[in-house]
Amino acid sequence: MSLPAPLAEALARFAALRHVLVATDYDGVVAPIVADPAAAFPLPGTVAALESLAGLPGVTVALVSGRDRATLGRLSGVSGSDGALVTVGSHGAEWDDDLGGLLDAPLLALRDAVLADLAAIAARFPGAAVEPKPLGGALHVRNVVDASSAPAALEEARRGPAARPGVHATDGKAVLELTVLDASKGRALQVLRERTGAAAVLYLGDDVTDEKAFAVLTEADDVSVKVGDGATAARFRVDGPAAARTVFEELLALRR
Ligand SMILES: [Mg+2]
Repeated sequence: MSLPAPLAEALARFAALRHVLVATDYDGVVAPIVADPAAAFPLPGTVAALESLAGLPGVTVALVSGRDRATLGRLSGVSGSDGALVTVGSHGAEWDDDLGGLLDAPLLALRDAVLADLAAIAARFPGAAVEPKPLGGALHVRNVVDASSAPAALEEARRGPAARPGVHATDGKAVLELTVLDASKGRALQVLRERTGAAAVLYLGDDVTDEKAFAVLTEADDVSVKVGDGATAARFRVDGPAAARTVFEELLALRR
């Protein structure tokens, strides 16, 4: 399978740079979309190409998925803990270490303050529970003993910690989730770019959430590739996971 000429040319320029970041979505790119999401395994050869790329000097490779990191690791067969191939889960909120530098000291302090606020509220509503999360915490009121007081607990959380500057609130069923940072695949790529000092970033994705990743690929040598149909801000397009595998294999051949 051969790639469109403009994409092949962009890959050749990208491959010649000293340090590059190769990042990709998982479902629909590395793994074909299947009816059962629990059986979305990689196309044969794709992970091997990514691992070979990760083994080359000056190349960092990352899987950036909406799935939680544990599931991403199980399905892809990539542990993400050996440093060779990075895995980032939950749309950029789940990293292998200290959030990959997502939270600096002020944000860590804000997260601690939010968790303390939520714990104080939960203590006043027996049965309420606080679930710490990487970027904040959630107040669960489903099991509040006096069910009629559950809305009041949520309201206290909205007026208190949720109103702190820099805190983002998301309502769920009997739960209020607070985060100190709006995680996204775009933010994840910015962090990876900063951490690795990569001169350019390649990213492949097939879904709407990948547009946030494409949006941060604004450097001249960045290569954004939409996989499949649909409106996109990506500069290039290929038709499916087999073509995505060709992108990785072509890059591997160029880089070697
Ligand atoms: Mg996808």
